[in-house]
Amino acid sequence: MSSQDFLKNINQKHERKPSEEIHTLKTSGNPEKNKKIDNGKIKDTSIAKIILKSGLSKVKRKIQIQLYEMKAKIEELDPFKGILSEDTLIKGDISDEDIGIESDKIYKEHMRLTFMSLKGIRGLKKISEEKIQEKMVNLIKKPENKGRKTVIFDLDETLVHCVGVGKGHVSLPVKFPNGKTSVAGVNIRPFAIECLEAASQLFEVIVFTASHKCYADVILDYLDPENKLIHHRLYREHCVQVNNFNIKDLRIINRRIQDMVIIDNAIISFAFHLNNGVPIISWFKNPYDKELQNLISYFPVISEAEDIRDINRSLFHLDTFYEDYYDEFNNL
Ligand SMILES: [Mg+2]
Repeated sequence: MSSQDFLKNINQKHERKPSEEIHTLKTSGNPEKNKKIDNGKIKDTSIAKIILKSGLSKVKRKIQIQLYEMKAKIEELDPFKGILSEDTLIKGDISDEDIGIESDKIYKEHMRLTFMSLKGIRGLKKISEEKIQEKMVNLIKKPENKGRKTVIFDLDETLVHCVGVGKGHVSLPVKFPNGKTSVAGVNIRPFAIECLEAASQLFEVIVFTASHKCYADVILDYLDPENKLIHHRLYREHCVQVNNFNIKDLRIINRRIQDMVIIDNAIISFAFHLNNGVPIISWFKNPYDKELQNLISYFPVISEAEDIRDINRSLFHLDTFYEDYYDEFNNL
């Protein structure tokens, strides 16, 4: 599918009236804002919503807290205590109705967090050219990636969620710089490996995490044991600290800015490159999450784009999202 066909398809889907949309928030009284909706432009930041709207019915979430008795003992030994959440990956039976309700909550919370992040971004200090130069990396493009654009994945809450000792989907040993080793429990997001495989067929793939190398490498080695799917890795040390946030400034990477897309659950990570970003919903444990599967459908579209930022802007409107939803979220 070409970029144009994709956008045409998306816009046709959005010709329905807002009142017919399951997740549509009330629109502003400002006719200029509503006009954008009437014109079929999309203000939806969920990949699932945008790419496969029908797939949302499968989204479900059930929170089950376990191991109360063991919790105190584990916490005493847990080096991740206070850093990581205590979620556990559990499947449960939920009715379709409940799935729909949970789906609504997840989506609306994502919209609210998107707004709040964009509000926070407005107060960030600009990053100086000197700082960019200081952080610059020279990533050698592998011959097989010549002519390809670059997909940059975040790690935590985008591909995986780390839950500490003795829990999670898999247990992986992490060796800290002080020489001590601990076992991290890690939940792997559904379709994480499939998504990396699909990305590596069309793009150069970078993982850029704000986590430390000692932790990230263990997880990335698990996801990509043969070192074939992820071509480069960037870590906390490559982020720029601004107002205590770790910002992933794409200017430090020696690629053309219009050829990079970053998939990150934290919009603030790509605060200075909003239209390069895909604001994926944060993932912790929902075993029915399909965001990464839906993302696979998006890859062929952006791989052909003249400028990835134009396609992202058409879909996510992150550059105007704050103004568009000011009335809905500003006083919450
Ligand atoms: Mg993240």
